[in-house]
Amino acid sequence: MAKEENNLMDKIESLCKRRGFVFPGSEIYGGLANSWDYGPLGVELKNNIKNLWWKRFVQQRDDMVGIDAALIMNPKVWQASGHLENFSDPLVECKKCHHRFREDLLEDKKKCPDCKGELMDAKQFNLMLKTFLGSTEDDANVVYFRPETAQAMFVDFKNVLDTTRRKLPFGIAQIGKAFRNEITPGNFIFRTREFEQMEIEYFIKEKGWENVFEYWRNEMQLWMTEELGLDKNSIHELDVPDGERAHYSKKTIDFEFDFPFGRKELYGLAYRTDFDLKNHFKEAQYEDSETKEKIYPHVVEPTFGVDRSILAVLCNSYKEEDGRIFLKLNPKLAPYKVAVSCLKKNDEKLVSKAEEIYHELKKEFYANFDNRGNAGKYYGSQDEIGTPYCIMVDFQTLEDNTVTVRDRDTTKQERIKADELLNFLKNELI
Ligand code: ATP
Repeated sequence: MAKEENNLMDKIESLCKRRGFVFPGSEIYGGLANSWDYGPLGVELKNNIKNLWWKRFVQQRDDMVGIDAALIMNPKVWQASGHLENFSDPLVECKKCHHRFREDLLEDKKKCPDCKGELMDAKQFNLMLKTFLGSTEDDANVVYFRPETAQAMFVDFKNVLDTTRRKLPFGIAQIGKAFRNEITPGNFIFRTREFEQMEIEYFIKEKGWENVFEYWRNEMQLWMTEELGLDKNSIHELDVPDGERAHYSKKTIDFEFDFPFGRKELYGLAYRTDFDLKNHFKEAQYEDSETKEKIYPHVVEPTFGVDRSILAVLCNSYKEEDGRIFLKLNPKLAPYKVAVSCLKKNDEKLVSKAEEIYHELKKEFYANFDNRGNAGKYYGSQDEIGTPYCIMVDFQTLEDNTVTVRDRDTTKQERIKADELLNFLKNELI
């Protein structure tokens, strides 16, 4: 890996920690391998992404409903879905240093990448995270944390159908945590053992599935470019060949993103056929309105990783220009939409005017108040966390009730009337 690329990840990780986006998990106890906590700004960025997604794919559509299911499901779910049998990665161990690796991710499958020692034969390692439910730790109480949110949409299919009277095509969406005992987690929040997914199971008739697949492929592209603001040239589609797809899939496209550590999967789109519903339900549940026949709908599944979305957005928006660092975030994603400060921190009139403006704006937008009375540090600090607009109250404000508004991307400032700030921001941000 080129030094420069490594450097960018170091810079992003350090900014995340310094400014409260992402902290190492359990840090005061020495951490817990590859676990991360979202801090005060990270949780805002994350919620903004999840809320935008929910609004776009659930609330603004007529053909989608949402659910929020339990993380731990009856183990029979994982029997039926094939996860207990098939959800595994090939694990290899070095005979010399005993480090373990995912064989399919190794360039040289014969030699240990750490000590060049000989590798043992690969064995399948199941990624399901096990625990016990109840007061006795025996086999009858073994349960699994869900490795994907998808299965709940299938298991709840009949309940959703009975309560919403949907007709094909329609989708069920869910945002939630998933757990995988990954062999080699790493690259900051790219691959962790606990992560969050935003998934849609879109139920259709078998005939014409190719068109639905194509439709979602386009929708996913639009989400990445329009909402996340990712550079189109950094996104690549990989048509996953036969033999490499998940056990249930007839066609899969991986959307890959050029992360600083290489081109890696960001999202996936899979045609799951009627595999899941057939495995979970002995009888077909859906009645075709034309033929009155009971059928098993087929499924197209667009799946989006929340944490990988955040990492892609951070990598895409991190800029160093003319000696300043700024996050060129889509304003919809920015943790704070606006910040307010005043020129002198000890001038009562200035401070109280700035506070008045801040409280007014805060009713509409998540806003930040900076009372350090240092314009350079104020702008630098808001740039680094991607705040689109910075307001400055100065002595002229006290005379004519105007303030300066500074644009994060251009650093240009314009004077506008304090009374017009709300409208100005609504125009720019919504
Ligand atoms: P990979 O090949 O990188 O292991 P996958 O193909 O197994 O990923 P899927 O099962 O398709 O991943 O999961 C759907 C989405 O969930 C992925 O596109 C990704 O955004 C996210 N995801 C999967 N595993 C992880 C993980 N360990 N950490 C963070 N996000 C993940």
